[in-house]
Amino acid sequence: MLRRSVFDPRESGNRRMIVAQVRGASVVLWDGARFREATVAKRARTAASVDFSFVAVGDRVAVEGDAGAVRVTSIEPRQSFLGRVARGSQDRIQVLAANAEQAVIVASVADPPFRPGLVDRWALLALRGGMTPVLALNKVDLSTRAAAGRLVDEASIPLEAIYLSAVTGEGLEDLRSCLAGRTSVLVGHSGVGKSKILSRIFPAEEIVSGELSGKSGKGRHTTASARMYLLPGGGHVIDTPGVRMVPIGPMHYTEVAEVFPEIHGAPLCRFRPCSHRTEPGCSVKAGVESGTVPGVVYRRYLRLLEEVGTE
Ligand code: GDP
Ligand code: ZN
Repeated sequence: MLRRSVFDPRESGNRRMIVAQVRGASVVLWDGARFREATVAKRARTAASVDFSFVAVGDRVAVEGDAGAVRVTSIEPRQSFLGRVARGSQDRIQVLAANAEQAVIVASVADPPFRPGLVDRWALLALRGGMTPVLALNKVDLSTRAAAGRLVDEASIPLEAIYLSAVTGEGLEDLRSCLAGRTSVLVGHSGVGKSKILSRIFPAEEIVSGELSGKSGKGRHTTASARMYLLPGGGHVIDTPGVRMVPIGPMHYTEVAEVFPEIHGAPLCRFRPCSHRTEPGCSVKAGVESGTVPGVVYRRYLRLLEEVGTE
């Protein structure tokens, strides 16, 4: 059975809530029944780790105050996070979303073309933060379902894959059932159709705009920040802004290998740990020769290694 659990603030006597949006110094919280704006107490900020965003969408927080003015007093330790290296800094992690059990990586069959290397990057970030990566391949109407499946197979993408078209509606049910009853974060590059998918899943009035107004919970005007949506039948979906780049930052090669089951699960190499680049007696390089490790996978692994600058 799949584990399906969504934190419901109402079960905590309304003293714990979920961050639905972050706006600089203030936040919009979901209290289980409605959205409300809140400030963040200084002691909650200073207790947070300096290496991570101190508060992110999906964070569970303790609050004080009443209907008039709610204040966040502390932020609970995260069960999972999706983070990338913050702009202009190599050691600070910008947390895009917290406490989701899965990261749905939205990509497209064409326009923009499918790029397995981008899927790897998001999968790496998801795994690093304790989330299960899932692939949602959109725009199958521009090709065929079978051809889309071949793209994924040829790239040897090891993820559960959902094939859909936000235009024709094909496959939307598969995505809905993947999201139902869970907390998920949607990530993807600009242009893959993430906004269109959201508009097929959530009622129009909820997403007219990106920004939640604390009073009504409805959108106000467009913004480029993450925000949480509520699925009618239960489940939370955190949408993140489409990006052009996924900076990963320094990472050890053993972490990179975890994205690729053929590499991660290869027999032991002579030297351990082995980066599988130039070491003698490397079972991964032998696997590339014999065909158990697909060449496309090995090349993507090497490219990712270059990018994370691992020694
Ligand atoms: P986002 O940047 O990921 O939010 O992408 P948008 O939702 O704005 O979509 C980018 C473009 O792709 C728009 O012109 C959409 O109409 C188009 N698009 C989105 N989904 C599909 C799809 O399933 N099939 C086709 N053919 N076009 C799509
Ligand atoms: Zn090796």
